[in-house]
Amino acid sequence: MIPPIGKILFRHLIKGPHTLRDAPPADPDGVDELARALAERTRNRLGRSLAIREIDAGSCNGCELEIHAVNGPVYDLERFGIRFVASPRHADVLLVTGPVSRNMAEALRRTVEATPQPRWVVAMGECALDGGCFKGSYAVMGGVHEVVPVDLHIPGCPPSPRQILAGLLALLDTASAR
Ligand code: SF4
Repeated sequence: MIPPIGKILFRHLIKGPHTLRDAPPADPDGVDELARALAERTRNRLGRSLAIREIDAGSCNGCELEIHAVNGPVYDLERFGIRFVASPRHADVLLVTGPVSRNMAEALRRTVEATPQPRWVVAMGECALDGGCFKGSYAVMGGVHEVVPVDLHIPGCPPSPRQILAGLLALLDTASAR
């Protein structure tokens, strides 16, 4: 008689993994094309890949879920040389989410100062524009531009991976670095 665990293993061996059955399309929303264009622009402007440091200045974490998605197995932006880095010292772009909470204002200022030039500051999401749904709260300063100069705003609540990429592409096409 086959023990229960043996039956389970055997069943999985002949059925294959569940994850492949409902897998999303390989290139949702034509993101590959945008990411290739972004990688090319980055090489032309910087001569290397693009390094992004994300800063949560007071977000609800909805914007972070989309940032996680661009780094996950479906979009996987790192294959195009677009990397999220752990330190502002290694970053070209600071991607700031959320309204700026009073507690994060000084940390945001110092993070911008710690980022070597040339650098760009990108405000991501409606809260980063003007405080969004947190506008008027005693706990927030408002949008990112209230605390540090902003080079580009990416609209959305939250912006989709496609909007994030389109925003970064517009940044490299139009903005001059500080
Ligand atoms: S823009 Fe939307 S998803 Fe992003 S932090 Fe604000 S409320 Fe959350």
